[in-house]
Formats: sequence, C-alpha cells, structure tokens
Amino acid sequence: MLTQRLPNPYRPESSIVSQCLASLNNALDWSALVRKALPWIQTVRENPPPFWAMESLLKEYPISSAEGLALMRLAEALLRVPDAETAIALTADQLGRADFDGSSDKVLSRLSSTAIAMSKHFLPAAPGSGPTPEPGLIAKLGARTVVAATLRAVQLLGRQFVLGQTMAEGQHEAAAARKKMPNLRYSYDMLGEGSRTDADALVHLKSYQDAIASIAASADKTCACEQNDGISIKLSALHPRYEYAQADRVLAELVPRVWGLCEQAARANINLTIDAEEVDRLELSLEVFEVLMAQVAKHYPQWRGFGLAMQSYQTTALELVAHVTELARKHGLRLMCRLVKGAYWDAEIKRAQELGLPHYPVFTHKHHTDVSYLACAKALLDAPDAIYPQFATHNAATVAAILQMAAKTGAPFELQRLHGMGEGVYGEVLKNPLVACRVYAPVGAHKDLLAYLVRRLLENGANSSFVHQLADETVPITELLISPLRLEPHASLPLPAHLFGLQRPNSCGLDLTVSAMRDPLLAALAALQLPEVPEFDAKLASGAVLSSAASYQQWSAVSVEVRARILRLAADELQAQLPRFCALLVKEAFKTWNDAVSEVREAIDFLRYYAAQAQTIMQPQTMPGMEGPTLLGITGESNELRLTGRGPWVCISPWNFPLAIFLGQVAAALATGNTVLAKPAEQTPAVALEAVKLLHAAGVPEGALQLLHGPGETVGAALVAAPGVAGVVFTGSTAVAKIINRALAAKDGPIVPLIAETGGINAMLVDSTALPEQVSDAVMQSAFRSAGQRCSALRLLCVHEEIADGVVAMIAGAARELRCGDPALLATDVGPVIDGEAFEGIGRQLKRLRRDARDLLGDVPGFKQNQPPAQSRQAQSAIDSIPNLIAPQAFEVQHISDLKDEIFGPVLHIVRWGGDPHKVIAQINALGYGLTLGIQTRIDSRAQALARAAHIGNVYINRNQIGAVVGVQPFGGEGLSGTGPKAGGPHYLYRFCAEQTITVNTTAAGGNVQLMA
Ligand SMILES: Cc1cc2nc3c(=O)[nH]c(=O)nc-3n(C[C@H](O)[C@H](O)[C@H](O)COP(=O)(O)OP(=O)(O)OC[C@H]3O[C@@H](n4cnc5c(N)ncnc54)[C@H](O)[C@@H]3O)c2cc1C
Repeated sequence: MLTQRLPNPYRPESSIVSQCLASLNNALDWSALVRKALPWIQTVRENPPPFWAMESLLKEYPISSAEGLALMRLAEALLRVPDAETAIALTADQLGRADFDGSSDKVLSRLSSTAIAMSKHFLPAAPGSGPTPEPGLIAKLGARTVVAATLRAVQLLGRQFVLGQTMAEGQHEAAAARKKMPNLRYSYDMLGEGSRTDADALVHLKSYQDAIASIAASADKTCACEQNDGISIKLSALHPRYEYAQADRVLAELVPRVWGLCEQAARANINLTIDAEEVDRLELSLEVFEVLMAQVAKHYPQWRGFGLAMQSYQTTALELVAHVTELARKHGLRLMCRLVKGAYWDAEIKRAQELGLPHYPVFTHKHHTDVSYLACAKALLDAPDAIYPQFATHNAATVAAILQMAAKTGAPFELQRLHGMGEGVYGEVLKNPLVACRVYAPVGAHKDLLAYLVRRLLENGANSSFVHQLADETVPITELLISPLRLEPHASLPLPAHLFGLQRPNSCGLDLTVSAMRDPLLAALAALQLPEVPEFDAKLASGAVLSSAASYQQWSAVSVEVRARILRLAADELQAQLPRFCALLVKEAFKTWNDAVSEVREAIDFLRYYAAQAQTIMQPQTMPGMEGPTLLGITGESNELRLTGRGPWVCISPWNFPLAIFLGQVAAALATGNTVLAKPAEQTPAVALEAVKLLHAAGVPEGALQLLHGPGETVGAALVAAPGVAGVVFTGSTAVAKIINRALAAKDGPIVPLIAETGGINAMLVDSTALPEQVSDAVMQSAFRSAGQRCSALRLLCVHEEIADGVVAMIAGAARELRCGDPALLATDVGPVIDGEAFEGIGRQLKRLRRDARDLLGDVPGFKQNQPPAQSRQAQSAIDSIPNLIAPQAFEVQHISDLKDEIFGPVLHIVRWGGDPHKVIAQINALGYGLTLGIQTRIDSRAQALARAAHIGNVYINRNQIGAVVGVQPFGGEGLSGTGPKAGGPHYLYRFCAEQTITVNTTAAGGNVQLMA
C-alpha cells in the first residue's frame, strides 16, 4: 500500500477556500487587473473569431441546445463508424432532433459543397447498391449529402483542435505559427489515452518515443530547457491498469517505460510534463513521479525540464503545490509545473455521487476553483528556486492576475493555452514580447481525437466557462472580469448523502485509495472471527411457522411508523459497522473489497427505502379519492383502503448477495408488518446471523424474525411446505424457483404468493457506433466483476461484425489484465467462485465450450499472469493456494441460440451480428430470460426502440449492466428471470401486503349531516 502524501480530499469546500483566500492575503489589486484585461476582451468581442473556431461554434450551437448536442454526439461518434448504413442512421438520428436550418448562419450548409466530394468517397454509390438503411431514414434526411456534410463538418471541427496528423505536420504548423508570433512554444500531445490492453500501451509508448525523437531533432541543447518545445504524456496511455489498486504492477512495469521517455527528454534538453488525470489516480501519480524524480536527480541532475500538471479544482491543490515544491528542493531539482483548473469536473462529481462519498474532491463553485488557482499560482511564483511555473488558462482575468503577481515577484514563468482555443485573448496578451506562451498541441489521426474533443466541447460549453461567456455577447464584459475572491459557505450541489432528499439519506461509501477510509476495513478483517451458526432441524419447520404466526399478532399491531423507525435504526447501525460487515463478506463470501462496500451500501439503502415506502403505502387511503378539496363518491358512505401484512413469510436468499438480498427480502416483509422465517444460503450463514443480530438489536422482536440455517433441499423445502406460510420470497436459480412454485401449488389451503427473482442469459448488444473502450470497460465490469456471480452479469456479447475484430481483441487484451486471487487483497479483480461444487460445474461447461466454441483467451489462465515480476513466484504460490479460482474466460459462438443455460461464473460468450439489430433482440427474447440487457450505441432513437422491443426487466444504455441502485433502478426480470415485482422499486412492498376495504354506511347512524346542512 502506498504512503498517503496528501490529506483526505473529501473535506468541506468552504474551509479549504478560506485557506486559499487567506494565503492570497491582498496579493491582488483586482481593479488594476480589470483595467489591464478589459481592452483584450473588447478587442476580441469587436473582432469575432472565424466561423470554425470553438468560440463561434459554441455561439452558434451551444451544447445546451439540441443542435449543439447533436454536433457533439456526431463529433464523438461519426468518424469511427465503419459502415455507411450505420453512419446514415446515426446522422439521421442526431440531425433529426436538431434544427440546423433554423439557424441564421449555417455551418453545415456552408460545408455542403465540399461534402459532395466526400459523399462519393464515403457513401454507397447509389441507393439500393449498398446495405439497406433503416426504413424511412433516408427519406427523413432528404439527401445523403447532408450526411457527408456532417462528416466533413466534424472532420473540420477535429482539424481545428489537432495541430497535425503526424509530428512532421505538427512541427511544420508550429514553425509557421512562430513566424508570426516568435514567443510561442509547443508541448506536443500524442492523441489516444486510457489504454485498455498492453498492446495499446506499447503503441502509445512508441508514439511518445518517436515524438520525442522528432522534437529532439530541432531542440537546442544549450539553451534554457523552457525555450524548447516539449511533450506532454498521459500515464494512463502507457499502462492498461494505471490504477491505485495496481500500484505494484504500475511501479514495476510503467515506471521503466516512463523513465525511458524521461531519459530521452533529458538528453534532448526538453520539457516533459506528466498530465493530470482523475483524482483517484493522484496519489499513484505522485508515487510514480517521486520514483522518477529520484532517478532524474541521480542520472540527469542538470535537466530542468521534468514536471507535472496540477489541477486547482481539487481540494488538495494547495497542499499538492507545497508537497511538490518540497520534493524539488529535497532532490535539488528545478521542475516545470503546469497549473490547470482541471478537465474532468463532471466526471469527478459523478464518481463522488456514485460512491456516496462524504464530500466532493473538487470545488463545486466555479469561482472557488479560480480562487484555488490563484492561491496555487502565488505559491508557485514564490518558489522560483524549485519551480518554473506554467500557467495554463484561457481566462483573461486569470491571465491578468498571473501577470500582476508575476510582475511583483519577478519570477520567470510561461503561459499556456490549448491549440485551437483562446487565440483571441492570447493574440492581445502576446503583443508583449516578454510574455512567453506554450501551446498544448494534440497530434494524431482525427479518429483518435474524439475523446479529447468531447472533453474540450463539454468543458468550454459549460455556462460557467470563460470561453463560453466570451462568445456569448449577452454576457456583459464587466461580468467576465468579476473578482472570484469570495467565499460561498455551502456546496452548490447536494452532497452525495442528500441525493435522495432529506427523508432517505443515501448510504455512505468510501474511496479505497484514501488510507483513512481503507484502513478500518483492513483492521476489521484482521480482527474478524467467523461465527459458528447452528443448523436448523428441518423437522421443526412447522413449529417455527406456528411460532412466527403467533408473533405476527404482535408485530403487525406495531404501527408502521415504529416498524420504519426500527429499520432505520438498523440501517444507521449497519452504516456504523460497515467495515466489519465488509470484512464478513470478504471472508465468508469471497467478495472483493469494492464489491463488499457496494453490497453493504445496498443493504443500508434497502432498509431505508422500504421503511420509507411502507410508511407511504400503508397509510389508509380514502376511496375513491379527492379532487382538489372535494371528496368524490357516493354521499352517506365512507370507503377506506388499508394495507396490512399477510403473516409469516419465508425468505430464501442466495450466497452471491448474502447481506443485501437477505436484508432486502427481510426488511420488505418486516416493514409491511409480516413476520419472517429467514433461510440464508448454506454457504453464507455467518453474514446472515450478524444481519439478524443487527435487526434484533434495533428492536425487531426475536419471534418476528427467526434465522433458520440449513440446506435448501431440507430446511428450505420444509419451510415452503409447512402449513400457515403466508408468502415466499426467493432469489436464486430458475430451477429452484420452479420447485418452490410447484411445492406451493401442491399445498392445501390458501394460494400462497411467491416472489421469485432468478437469473438470466443476459446480453449486451453493441452496434458500430459504440466506443470500443467504453464497451470493453462495460464488459469487464459486467461479465467478470464478482467472478461473474451476479444474476445481472453479462453472459452474451453481441457485437456488430464491422467492429467485432477490434472489440474482441480489446476485450481479450483487457481480460488478460485482470488479476485473480485472494479477494482480501486490494489488487484482486476476480476472487474465487463460491465453492468446489460451483468450480466443478463451471469446469464442465468450460470443457464443452472449449470443444464447441472458439476460445478467445487461450489456455493461459489469466490468474497466472499480471503479477509484478519481482514477486511472481511467491505471488503465484499464494494464488495457487486459493481454491476455486477461475480466470475470466471468453468464447466466440456462432449463434445466439447456441446458449442454453446460464453459466454462473466469469464466462463470456461473444457472437457477431450484421443487418437489423431488432432481429438480434428478437433472438435474445427467444432465449426466454429477461433480466438485464446492455445496449451500446450512439443512435439514441435506436437505443430506445431496441429497449422497447426487449422483454427484459433492466436495460442499461451505454454503461455496464450490473449494480442496480435501490430506489433508482428498481431491479428484477420477467420470463424465466422472475415473477416481479422489482426489488428496490415502488411496487415491491404491495406484494407483501393484504388489502382491506372498509365501507361504512354513515346514513345508518342518522344520515349525512354535511349534506343536509
Ligand atoms: C496547456 C493546457 C494543458 C492542460 N492540461 C491538463 C491536464 O493535464 N489535466 C487536466 O485535467 N486539464 C488540463 N487542461 C485543461 C484545463 O484544465 C482546462 O482547459 C481548464 O480547466 C479551463 O480553464 P480556463 O482557465 O481556461 O477556463 P475557465 O472558464 O476560467 O475555467 C473552467 C474550469 O473551471 C472548473 N469548473 C467549471 N465549473 C465548475 C464548478 N461548478 N465548480 C468548480 N469548478 C468548476 C473546471 O476545471 C473548468 O475546466 C489543460 C489546459 C491547458 C490550456
């Protein structure tokens, strides 16, 4: 585990901003700054940029408009679509929802003449000669030239942000620009980021090596390093698992790669900057950076070009600057440090919300990011012995503030901007020949530009963005220069805990890269002893049901408010004991830590959600209801509908979610006033025992909740068959659900309701507009996380034939990077399957697949790879000692109908498709299961139409298909996948209730007084 260098990033924003403001301590004269920047802005406003510039584009088609959104979507996807049929469908889909014609100044129509040439090249020669497009789409488009025009527009848009497709082209452009503006320097960025496979990482490495060689060829070895052009690198491009949990591999494998680049840069006397990426990679980046710094200090102490980017939107920015400054001094180096605001703001906010973190790791007020930027800038300017600061911004106020602070200290520095952005303001600023500016210049093929381009569009399209406001003439110039030096006491967004309102607090999660959050988990595991759970004697089942029925009399009489309060108490206690319950899940159910945390959170959410739902639905309801203040219905009569419990429920839960599903079932039954006979899975009784203790301690009477541990065939069967059972809720296999259903049907007495949630052959449909990296991420999560032991897990990937080779190669490469092993280790992605029986069953299925299908991952068991070389022998023997490990497996099959049964393990089937995607959905429907479906497409209307056509309970578009959130994504299937209603949804509790209507004839006691009055 790495030593944590920076404080916990999840802290209240206001206290950090106060520190930043204090550190600025009157360093800025804002009115003087406004006087300086005002003329720049006036000049830019008076000389609008050319129509293809980012500013013009944003002005004409703001991304908040349908047109802007359509352009962005097209920009992201159109260039990579290989087949004309799908390209047409995508363009029609996006343009169909936008009104480009209504715009006064039409970018697309301006481009259409160039587009005709393109259309000949790209589209089928004549209608009917190529594959048949989706019906009606061509008609809707009017002309194929529109498609080609769009393609052309997107390419031009791309060209605006790429300096060249090759280094030679880029350097040629740079030389041309320098003729007009000699104080320009360049930092080249090789497009492509986030490698998923080692092969991709090696391609990126080669392109960085070649780029440095090109820059070196024209660099001056004798001048100051900062005067030369340089390079920016992304560590995530150089390793497929650039993640905190994989720190050992990163240090063993990535560091040598980066060190090679550093040596090349040092010898050439150029600047090499490590770009800043997501917050959860910062500590890892610092580790890598420090190792490299020590090597630089040892081998190239004279090199002054090594550095990194720092993001001021992070709450730890100021501490990071202090830390890096101290490091530079410790090693006797001068670093080149780029200060940015940060490019992943929306992604950071989303991640913090998904993980239920206590605070955001980035500021939520734009001007707080600016304050932090200025405070960091001051700190950097104050350390010229250690740092050569590089201020990257397009914001005129920020630039003016930097110039003012730098003038005071006299420290050397440079400004930086992105190629294709901020040219207007910089045109003015750089009239001062003493100010140097470096341009961050992406180089590469246009199709690799997309991720970068979309980030730029999003970032600059935001209303709060300076570039956006500058382009928007309705924003007064004075507003653009308002001082950010003020404090907002509260975050601008609800904190993750309050996402579902004050009535239902969200469960709190944690970030495993923060030691203060991770250490309690590890300590809990070290201290844990799994309790012994006595087996229940199946012969006593009837007695248990009888006593449950007796307890029902008391428990159902407890008001719903009190029952809900008890469940909420249990939720709070579970939250408090999260580390211990996670440890239980790791030890007994072989969960990885991430899975364990998610599961405890889900259990907490179930308790709170069902408490709230019960309170809502169990209030007596006047019928037929009210219309405004008027009571509807017949006079002289009152009608009321009430829900009550039914009696004793048998709750049979599985081992794959031994806490969340167990507590979900039990909480639903208890909240509605039923009593519970809980039969956990044989494999995981200890988790169930602790959960039951928690509920008893919170106030659930012992008689209202009994734990009956034992085999399904005996204890489960006896409970189901016992007289007096009011309902059964079961999660598990389809086969067992059918056995229970038959057993209930065979019973005398009342018909007993059954809620069954079973598995499925879950598919993901990928068309040729999908982004392969996104598909690969979704597949790794959906098919292999939890060793594929989720009922929602992906079993069948259906990939469009035009992109199948690339996608399959990426998935195979990414799967090889997964680490199998001891789930208690943070680095483990895939733990063992639950027991020997499961292991052997999956083994038999694999044998059949190896015979009948194409094995995509080969014989090499994934878990034998990916150990850091230095430890491999020791690590391997530790892994070999873990029973029941199955590395991820993937097989290509010919037909969807080849799949007969669900394989409950890390086994993926892949099939190629072509033609009409609706036919694929029809084949998936024909399998008879209906639990989860993934759809990966950028054609929105297609995604919606396919989702409607699918007989499937949970459809996930452009993401993974696991991890349904309680009260947000109600979960459950149809067909062979279950009876419904969906768990964690608004209809679930009704099934646990009996309904009673009470009708009172009020005229019997003297008539309706109100009517008579
Ligand atoms: C040369 C160069 C290199 C770069 N390298 C990197 C890099 O390595 N890593 C990286 O992440 N980015 C990098 N960037 C991108 C940079 O982060 C953005 O361009 C920059 O944030 C835009 O800031 P601005 O001063 O130009 O614009 P402004 O409009 O003044 O600031 C916009 C920024 O404010 C922040 N923001 C927006 N809304 C909010 C909000 N509600 N609350 C808090 N903050 C908010 C975001 O960071 C947003 O990008 C680089 C930029 C340049 C110019």
